[in-house]
Amino acid sequence: MTRRVGLIGKPLRRRHSQVMHDAAFDAAGIDARYVLLELDPDEVEASVAAARGEEWLGLGVTAPYKRMIAGLCDEIAPEAAAIGAVNNVARTTEGRLVGFNTDALGFRAGVEFAMERTLTDASVVVAGAGGAAHAVVFACLDAGASRVTIGNRTLESAAALAARFADVGPGAVSAVTLDDPVFGAALRTADLAVNATTVGMVDQGMTIDVAGLPASATVFDLVYVPPETALLRAARERGLRAANGSEMLIAQAAAAFERWTGLAGMADVMRAAVAPLLADPNVRA
Ligand code: NAP
Repeated sequence: MTRRVGLIGKPLRRRHSQVMHDAAFDAAGIDARYVLLELDPDEVEASVAAARGEEWLGLGVTAPYKRMIAGLCDEIAPEAAAIGAVNNVARTTEGRLVGFNTDALGFRAGVEFAMERTLTDASVVVAGAGGAAHAVVFACLDAGASRVTIGNRTLESAAALAARFADVGPGAVSAVTLDDPVFGAALRTADLAVNATTVGMVDQGMTIDVAGLPASATVFDLVYVPPETALLRAARERGLRAANGSEMLIAQAAAAFERWTGLAGMADVMRAAVAPLLADPNVRA
C-alpha cells in the first residue's frame, strides 16, 4: 500500500513541500507520496477524518486552515497549542491524529544559522502579526530573546499577539504600528529584524528601514518567493547579514518528515530537491 501525506490548504499554488517530501520518501525507500488537497472550508472536516485511515501517514496544513485543523485533531502538541496553529498532523499507529507545529523550530534553525549565533539575549524586531509571526514571536521568546518588538499595519492584531506570549520566556514583548517611532527606535538597537508579513511576496515595498539597523544586525525575510525581496537586497547593499525563508522552509519540512516516518536527517535531500524551484524566477507566489 502506498501511504500518503496530504497538504490541505486553498489556494495551493506552490509545489515546494511536495517536491521536498517526495524526494525524501524516494531517498529513504519509503513507499509514500505527498499529495495536494485544495479544499473548500466545508470539505476540510471530512478530509481530516479520512486521514485516520491506515493509508495515511499524516497531513500538512497551510493557509487558511492552520487554526481550523487544530480544532479537528484528537490531540495537540504543546508547542502548537501555545502558538494556536497546526501546520502538520501525524497519524499514530492507533489512528489518532496529533496536530503539531514545525514553523517555530524551522524559524529558529533558519535564523540562528543566518545570525551565526543563538537567539538567547537577542533584541528582535518583527514586522507582522499573522500566522507566521505567531511562530516567529513564540520561537524568539521561547529561545530567550531579551526583547521582541512587534510592528504591524493593524495595531489590534499586534497587541493580541504580544498579549498571547507575554509570559513566554524571560524577555519583554511589545506591540506598535509599523509607522510608530518606537518601531524605528527598536530597529536602532536590534540584533535581528524579521519580515513576517506578505510584503515582498504579495505587495511591493519594505516593512523595515534597513538604514536604521546597527552594522551587526541580521535581516531575515520569511518570504522565499521571490528569493530576493527588496528588503534583502537593501540589507545586502548595506553589508548586513541577510537571509530569506528557504532554510526555515526546509528545516520545518525535515522536522515534519521525522514525525511522520521516524527518519531524521533528510534536510540535505530536501534542500537539493527544492533548489531548482527556489532559484526559478518564473515561480510565482
Ligand atoms: P497572514 O497570516 O496572512 O499575515 C499577513 C501579515 O502581513 C499580517 O501581519 C498583515 O498585516 C501583513 N501585511 C499584508 N499586507 C501588508 C501591507 N501591504 N503592508 C504591511 N503589512 C501587510 O500570512 P502568514 O501566513 O503569516 O505569512 C506571512 C509570510 O510568511 C508569507 O509571505 C509566507 O509565505 C511566509 N511564510 C514563510 C514560511 C517559511 O517557511 N519560510 C512559513 C510560513 C510563512 P495586517 O494584520 O495589518 O493585515
